Amino acid sequence: MRRHFAVRCLGAVLIGLLAGCGAGSPQTESADRETNADLLILGGTVVTMDATRTIWENGGIAVVDGVIAAVGSRADIEAEWSAAETVEAGAADLVIPGLINGHGHAAMTLMRGVADDLALMDWLQSYIFPAEAAVVDPAFVTAGTRLAALEMIRTGTTTFVDMYYFAQQVAEVVDTSGLRAIIGESLIEFPVPGSPTPADSLEYSRNFMETWSGHERVTPSIAPHAPYTVTPENLLAALALTREFDVPVLIHLAETSDEVAQIQDEYGLTPTAHLENIGFLGPNVIGAHAVWLTDEDIEILARHDVGVVHNPESNLKLASGVMRVEDLFSAGVATGLGTDGPASNNDLDMFGALLTAPLQQKNFNVDPTATPATRVFAMATIEGARAIGMEDRIGSLEPGKRADVVIVDGDAPNLVPRYDPYSHLAYAARGDNVRATIVEGAVLFLDGDFLTLDVEATLAAAREQANRVREAVGLPQR
Ligand SMILES: [Zn+2]
Repeated sequence: MRRHFAVRCLGAVLIGLLAGCGAGSPQTESADRETNADLLILGGTVVTMDATRTIWENGGIAVVDGVIAAVGSRADIEAEWSAAETVEAGAADLVIPGLINGHGHAAMTLMRGVADDLALMDWLQSYIFPAEAAVVDPAFVTAGTRLAALEMIRTGTTTFVDMYYFAQQVAEVVDTSGLRAIIGESLIEFPVPGSPTPADSLEYSRNFMETWSGHERVTPSIAPHAPYTVTPENLLAALALTREFDVPVLIHLAETSDEVAQIQDEYGLTPTAHLENIGFLGPNVIGAHAVWLTDEDIEILARHDVGVVHNPESNLKLASGVMRVEDLFSAGVATGLGTDGPASNNDLDMFGALLTAPLQQKNFNVDPTATPATRVFAMATIEGARAIGMEDRIGSLEPGKRADVVIVDGDAPNLVPRYDPYSHLAYAARGDNVRATIVEGAVLFLDGDFLTLDVEATLAAAREQANRVREAVGLPQR
């Protein structure tokens, strides 16, 4: 018989019947020597990703106020802690830090599959930008981000970094769905949805930062699109705003060889050297892609403590090139992992990126030892957290970190037998092996049930918005 999580009190918590919850919990046996937690996660193999990469077989985690209070053996956690709510992982399950999707455009779920197999510039200029001009409004962004949240929660992502329009709507979806995100309103030199000029984007971003600064799960940001689409003046204006609010700044960096040629023509420098030259680079910069880097560019990124995010599936699909992951690691540049937007991936499953990144690196380096499983899993967790400047809060399962935890089904046929957890997490697991997604100590998904999102309403709204996209690009309505 297939095991199920024994969620002793979750249903009762949801319908407010807390009184009935104590009967099955350990507190009834020895309340005097136990410490109260809000949530216990018990059982399974806990892959902590702490500094010494501790793994607890039959482990346990106690959560208080959304923060991990203790990690250890199940026996120790059960002896020391009691809680109203317990999530029981199966003996074979893997309990891992929530995955961090370091770069994407969540609402572009609604552009998934609308135009594939094109060159980046053609794809952007003939399809994506015109379609966006016609359809992107607050309702579109809400529907698309909600759909993305559903997919991310289903596939074990707990934090994502987003660059799109109507950041206010993105933040509202993040707030209600229970996810964690860094959200940047895009800034670009031509009229975009909601902002006719870059000055309007800057003003929007200032209001956005004032509204969301201090929120536990929403980090407001601004996203100047790329060095070739934003003037130095506006890049620096965006940077100044992020310094004022002490938040990250998001940018696409050195994604294609076309970009390199364009910046070389205009400024006589590489994109990375150009950004350094104007004084843009620093530890709060999160650069997506960073594919076309010279040795000197890598030194520049390391010197300024810039975080970068690898998007292997997008780079492969758009034939953008191959990131120098091994060289970035050797130079000490914090390198995370991402999916990019669903129009260029075409999904938000981080397990896809976890598989593709090492396969691509091994082939590119003609070296099967390149980017091993342990390294790529770190890119999706603790190294990813470092790349986005959140390593003090997320990326590993250890006391003091926020309780962002994912449980992977160790009884799934594709994960049996298991000799090495990292091997399975990189090479064998898929998003649909996720059984539970927990953010800030709140259960968002458990054994098929979404606890914060209405699945049918989310899918219906997405399908309705898709008809607007069809109209914009000349496809028949459905
Ligand atoms: Zn992107």
